[in-house]
Amino acid sequence: MNNGHLQNFINGQWQPSKAKEYLDVKNPATAQVMAQVPLSPKDEVDQAARYAAEAWEEWRQVPVTERIQYLFKWKFLLEENFLDIARTTTDECGKTLEESKGELRRGIENVETACGMPAMIQGYNNEDIARGIDEIMIRQPVGVVAAITPFNFPGMIPLWFMPYAIACGNCFILKPSERVPMTMQKVFKLLEQTGLPKGVAQLINGSKETVDAILDHPAIRAVSFVGSTAVAKYVYGRATANGKRAQCQGGAKNPIIVLPDADPDATTSIVADSAFGCAGQRCLAASIAVTVGAAREWFTDAISSAAKTRKVGYGLDEGVQMGPVITAQSKTRIESLVQQGVSEGAKLIVDGRKARITGYEQGNFVKPTILQDVNPQGEIARTEIFGPVLSMMHVQDIDQAIELVNRSSYGNMACLFTRSGAAARKFRYEARVGNIGINLGVAAPMAFFPFTGWKESFFGDLHGQGWDGVEFYTEKKVVVERWPKEWSRKF
Ligand code: NAD
Repeated sequence: MNNGHLQNFINGQWQPSKAKEYLDVKNPATAQVMAQVPLSPKDEVDQAARYAAEAWEEWRQVPVTERIQYLFKWKFLLEENFLDIARTTTDECGKTLEESKGELRRGIENVETACGMPAMIQGYNNEDIARGIDEIMIRQPVGVVAAITPFNFPGMIPLWFMPYAIACGNCFILKPSERVPMTMQKVFKLLEQTGLPKGVAQLINGSKETVDAILDHPAIRAVSFVGSTAVAKYVYGRATANGKRAQCQGGAKNPIIVLPDADPDATTSIVADSAFGCAGQRCLAASIAVTVGAAREWFTDAISSAAKTRKVGYGLDEGVQMGPVITAQSKTRIESLVQQGVSEGAKLIVDGRKARITGYEQGNFVKPTILQDVNPQGEIARTEIFGPVLSMMHVQDIDQAIELVNRSSYGNMACLFTRSGAAARKFRYEARVGNIGINLGVAAPMAFFPFTGWKESFFGDLHGQGWDGVEFYTEKKVVVERWPKEWSRKF
């Protein structure tokens, strides 16, 4: 079904855009066109920002206990429509239905966490910092804030930001990925049903021009971004040069290390899920597997057979474990990076290129692929492939493995598989990345923890989710008050 031209949600109304250009939104498994998304021009961002600024004057005065009532209603509507939203995510993004349900669940957990805002937004105080003088710190909302999100988690990533922003008393503008705009159409229709005052949450579709208008708009005070490192750097630079607060999450190249004492079955299945789940299009996907010592023998055979037996297909079909990649260009890019790995000396021990799935011949499928003995100095060891490709390397001890982890320009995640507590502690202590997994393949922080990428995986100071979200979406104000005792004696 083609949903036609998608609309923006501005000032409490669904509005057609005046965009000159629309892009087709395609189901990556079938190549069917599902809708057309507008590339909204600058003046529509201006319109949204002005309405948001107007709405904020009133919204900031709504008590936090009332603000969260909209989130409670939203949470229940999201639950009622859970399957429908997840199916939309699968259709536009390609991941399996189970994966879509998983990401929506993680997203809803952020709504739930933000419902605790009456306690989270509290400041602190000291009585008698000097005789008769008290000092208090209160938090106030920042104002109008915006988020720009990527294609790979159409449901979850906008929810890393929106619930906290709204509950803290801000007015929020979302620019979702133009490749997957439909999930948020549904999520915003549910938000509309909560009766949230107009202008408090707005949805504007588009790409670069729309983003630039957000980055330059004087009324927008803070910007959250998730996407590739090149764009994250650009957004961070332009937003901060314009005096905005910014938190920008970038790309990744996540290593997992397998020690000889790791549990072979559990390690293989967890690493396969990490590398090939969501077709490898996850910023926390394992993309490099480093075997240490004797682990090489058992792990190489086991992961190869897990890769070869993974069922690839349309994410809504029964039993499918991995869907397509997002676009035909993405498939071509992934396949040419695999070729580059080979030309740099790696052995292609599982080749998933040129995949054909019966019934879905137009889909952008790449099957699980494994490159062995990848050159640690080569291009392929540094480049984010963002597809179902695992690069294997081998070292003699844990120190060499940690050195490989720390050499990376990225710092999103690293995992260790072992039964040794001492090795796990050493790794946790020495690895220079922000998210660590021990016997886990996707160390995704829960809603009440910050999502802590480091190095080229994050630009900014305060991360998304949890307490960091509250810090990001509030301004601190310190008040020092002197009330001399003698004045009260007069009453
Ligand atoms: P992307 O950088 O292409 O796009 C992200 C957003 O930026 C989109 O909304 C897009 O419209 C906008 N955009 C794209 N090019 C732009 C430009 N030149 N100027 C201004 N705006 C622009 O990323 P993507 O392909 O949608 O997502 C995949 C990337 O996101 C991967 O690199 C992945 O690692 C990363 N990612 C990171 C995290 C994290 O938590 N660190 C999470 C998910 C995805």
